[in-house]
Amino acid sequence: SPLPDYMTEVLEACSDEDDGELAAYIPELAEADPSRLALALATPDGTRYAVGDADVRFTIQSISKPFAYALALVDHGLDAVLEHVGVEPSGEAFNEISLDPSTNRPLNPMINAGAITVHSLLDADRVAAGFAAFAGRDLEVDEQVYASELATADRNHAIAYMLRNHGIIDADPHAVVDGYTRQCSLLVDVGDLAVMAATLANAGTHPVTGEQVVPRWVARQTLAVMTTCGMYDAAGDWFTTVGIPAKSGVSGGLIGALPGKGGFAALSPRLDRHGNSTRGVRIFERLSGDMGMHLMEVP
Ligand code: GLN
Repeated sequence: SPLPDYMTEVLEACSDEDDGELAAYIPELAEADPSRLALALATPDGTRYAVGDADVRFTIQSISKPFAYALALVDHGLDAVLEHVGVEPSGEAFNEISLDPSTNRPLNPMINAGAITVHSLLDADRVAAGFAAFAGRDLEVDEQVYASELATADRNHAIAYMLRNHGIIDADPHAVVDGYTRQCSLLVDVGDLAVMAATLANAGTHPVTGEQVVPRWVARQTLAVMTTCGMYDAAGDWFTTVGIPAKSGVSGGLIGALPGKGGFAALSPRLDRHGNSTRGVRIFERLSGDMGMHLMEVP
């Protein structure tokens, strides 16, 4: 069929790009095979395609952040979540130790400070059940990556202590970082991520299981925050060139969700200086141009 052939062609066109570095601050991630390359698509009617290294599983990392945010919105409502974490792009790195100076809240839920706060609003069972609903199957934790990250998580502990000092989180900082690190260590493949993105793009209804995983307003809020904050300090670059809500993670995953049209997910472990997948960004630039996906394009 022409669509998977086209997707394979996009991967081939990007395969000679070898800029970027593996994330090394999580020792286990530095062991990943940098040549991995995969792309998946899911549409609202449940059509799914995946090409390249589509059966490779990797840890979800920061791509978990929009989904955890969505679950927190469902459980606590918009106002209560906004009291804990804002919706302003930070223009800073993902792991910046910073808060909004006027409110002491993390600027947004896509940077670590915001995501650790969001995680503190969820319990472990809710995370497991909520991510299973988004993926359409139960997700396992990669215990090795989890242990490797937790053993070196000084920076996230610093963030969590800062959050408790300001009364943004109530829980024990160690317990919150532990749970957040487990959330980041959930194993997915690009096909899982594409249906998860497609669920947000489909106003919260899972394209395969048919479950309304989150209400329409939650999907909209989450996509909006992905648009402004999902690519960290490259969010402006990304939105002008690619023009769709997105989220990246340090293991090299990258999702894009096009409202009403579906979800894409790419995997390539080498990262640019913002922590976004180098080849992933290239793949999406190509998809956006070829398929006219830019949301600011006047039809
Ligand atoms: N678990 C990682 C961290 O907290 C997630 C970061 C990322 O994927 N950008 O540092």
